[in-house]
Amino acid sequence: MKVAFFGGTFDPVHRGHMAVARAAADKFGLDRIYFAPADIPPHKQKRKLTDFQHRFAMLALATADDKRFVPSLLDAYTGEPNYSINTIRRLKSTLKKSDKLYFLIGMDAFKDIATWRQPEELLAECEFIVASRPGFSLTQVCAALPQSLQPSAAMMRSLRWRQNGHGAGFHKASAGDGHVSLPGVTVHLLPDVHEHVSSTQIRAAARKSVKQLSRYVPASVAEYIRKERLYVGQSPSPQKEAIRRGKMLSLQRGSQHG
Ligand code: ATP
Repeated sequence: MKVAFFGGTFDPVHRGHMAVARAAADKFGLDRIYFAPADIPPHKQKRKLTDFQHRFAMLALATADDKRFVPSLLDAYTGEPNYSINTIRRLKSTLKKSDKLYFLIGMDAFKDIATWRQPEELLAECEFIVASRPGFSLTQVCAALPQSLQPSAAMMRSLRWRQNGHGAGFHKASAGDGHVSLPGVTVHLLPDVHEHVSSTQIRAAARKSVKQLSRYVPASVAEYIRKERLYVGQSPSPQKEAIRRGKMLSLQRGSQHG
């Protein structure tokens, strides 16, 4: 069985994620894609995320119609940031020897891979499928790799040369239908996805008007966002809310005793 891990914040899941998953499943003959929302994404700790339960529920709705897609609790609460190296090893330990595992990721996330925890080990665990955007190429994929895995300058030159349309290897090495296989890393490019949408955009749009949501997220997800009133206003953080409640209580006590 061919299995892919697709991690992210999914706050919320949107048409871009679904298009990436569909294109990858079709192109690589994947039998199963695990969509795993991260409880604590190591790279996105600046803003308060929507509760994990809501992000998971939206994924369950979005993946319901395709039997290859499975919402996953692999990166649910552990009390620590969800490092991909740990998740992938945990997932691998549940697979059969005959199964093949892929790591599905967008180019915007892959370009920071060298800053992730144990990147060399992670890249060695399984093959990567990188959903590129127009203008991204295999040379940029190589440039994103940790220093120790980067191809030699001569190899990079030949890759660039082939990408520019020269030589017999053009089709294999080009960003159009490319893959790069180096010692310790194999990356396949998935160039067919052109959904220019991000969760950031959707959260901003939802704060203004929830009506337009169906353009960016599956209909069932749009309905869930409306029903649960997600993203409509900047809700206070739990700490601020607790402080506010505490203040109100002490005011009430003060007036009772004073
Ligand atoms: P945010 O805007 O909050 O940063 P996001 O839209 O990038 O979120 P994530 O949940 O962080 O969504 O992304 C999960 C994965 O999906 C990442 O690997 C990311 O690169 C990829 N991805 C997200 N949107 C797209 C898109 N429109 N096209 C291709 N890949 C995408």
